[in-house]
Amino acid sequence: MGHDSILVVGAGVSGLCTAIFLARSGARVEIWEAAEKPGGLLRPVLFQGVPCDLGSHRIHGDALPILQQAAPTLSWAERPRNGRLIFCANRPAERTPPFASLGRVERPVACRHVPYPLRLRGFVQGLGPTLSARFFVSFLRREASLRKFLRWEADRTASSDLGATESEDLGFESFVRERVGDAAYRAFYQPYVEKVWGLPATAISKTVAKKRISTAQPISVLADAVRASLRQQPAAARFLYPPQGIGALIQALCVEAEALSVPIHYDRRFVEAEAAQFARVVYTGHLSDLLPHQAALRLGHRGLYLIFLAFPASTLGPVDTYYVPGRGLWFGRVSLPNNFSPGLSRRNESLLCVEIPEGTWGNDLDFTQPAYLAELVRQLHRAGIVPPGLSRPTAVVQHFVPRVYPLYRRGWLAEFRRELEHIAQAGRVFPAGRQGLFLHCNIDHCVQIARDVARHLLSGGSSHAWIAHCTRYLDVRVRD
Ligand SMILES: Cc1cc2nc3c(=O)[nH]c(=O)nc-3n(C[C@H](O)[C@H](O)[C@H](O)COP(=O)(O)OP(=O)(O)OC[C@H]3O[C@@H](n4cnc5c(N)ncnc54)[C@H](O)[C@@H]3O)c2cc1C
Repeated sequence: MGHDSILVVGAGVSGLCTAIFLARSGARVEIWEAAEKPGGLLRPVLFQGVPCDLGSHRIHGDALPILQQAAPTLSWAERPRNGRLIFCANRPAERTPPFASLGRVERPVACRHVPYPLRLRGFVQGLGPTLSARFFVSFLRREASLRKFLRWEADRTASSDLGATESEDLGFESFVRERVGDAAYRAFYQPYVEKVWGLPATAISKTVAKKRISTAQPISVLADAVRASLRQQPAAARFLYPPQGIGALIQALCVEAEALSVPIHYDRRFVEAEAAQFARVVYTGHLSDLLPHQAALRLGHRGLYLIFLAFPASTLGPVDTYYVPGRGLWFGRVSLPNNFSPGLSRRNESLLCVEIPEGTWGNDLDFTQPAYLAELVRQLHRAGIVPPGLSRPTAVVQHFVPRVYPLYRRGWLAEFRRELEHIAQAGRVFPAGRQGLFLHCNIDHCVQIARDVARHLLSGGSSHAWIAHCTRYLDVRVRD
């Protein structure tokens, strides 16, 4: 490759799409990928012969047009969403080794399943009259402000926060509590973020509320309820998925890249000194790998344990995903890969993918060890996900996916902007994608960023101008 060619680092969806958009416009481009296979977070893992996602992925209807631009040959199946939100009342239990590291263990009792996406009626029924009343009373007691409640979406815009330091960052707790009241905050929002990020909610930036929680903001629940009563189906009620699994998207992108003669080099980690022949580099690896040690620690991540379990045939029902925000159950989400597409169903067994956020656990635990596994299955019984008669899975495999959730500590934004400025000064590297821009974002956001960075490079834009442009992606809303 000559001096005017472009290096794309990473063959996840971001890197592949960037290379495709560049190559379609005639740019000379090649990809370096550190792993031996493409896909990044969309690389499927085979469990019992089924290509399962590393965590359940789904595509929402409004994301389709941009995905079709990148992978025009891929077909998508539309599926009704069949999720459940699980709320449990907890009672404190004894500390029992080997789970003492969890601190106070709570035993969930009386778990309720609420259909998800949420509808107001199902939500109130699922919570039960006492908890629903407590939420409303707490709200009416002016622990929350109606004006702020209604302005949740407007307040998401990052422009007023640019450069926010720790003291300027209101924090997750205050942002959410001011909008939903204390009871809903403690029952739902606080345990969820503490489970995923393993930090007290007071230490977490309000950015998390703005990016991650906004889909569960109360106002969208109300809007969906109104739409449902007018018999319009809410957009979130259906999702798209490739019939043969999310890996088919990566396969289609690789075929497209090959047709455009884009070389992909695997087992090739980006080292700046070895890439001197490239005038420009689009970097979709982790931002922290480009930073000095201290900054890399402050802009760190949490990982995710995925425990795949197999149970005898058709015993687990038609639900595709359970969302489990509360304390007392280790998992934050449990999905049933067989129910994502008829092409993935199996006659003789049902598969479960249990997601346990790294949180406070650390990254070296083995949940397939007998004591942990037995407790995990007990929790699945208590949550009503696995029927009590099924106590022994027929197969179990664990994967740990590191650096999955950016750790948005209060004040992270100031550090992030400072570090991006340093990268811009070097002038050659254009960070992009979920990892390069420290984003908690969806697949279609990655494709959008890929298209934008390709256009920027093709028009001769500078690294400085790209980085100034990138702050707009901080505001993307994560859809689940
Ligand atoms: C549990 C979970 C569930 C999700 N669910 C959904 C969902 O339902 N819907 C949705 O739209 N999105 C979902 N997402 C988000 C989606 O998975 C990501 O946004 C997307 O896959 C990120 O793609 P990427 O290419 O930017 O990053 P990655 O997929 O991480 O790819 C980065 C690539 O760069 C390579 N790399 C890194 N460093 C280097 C280096 N130095 N040199 C060379 N190569 C390098 C890596 O090996 C990797 O292949 C989910 C994410 C998670 C974690």
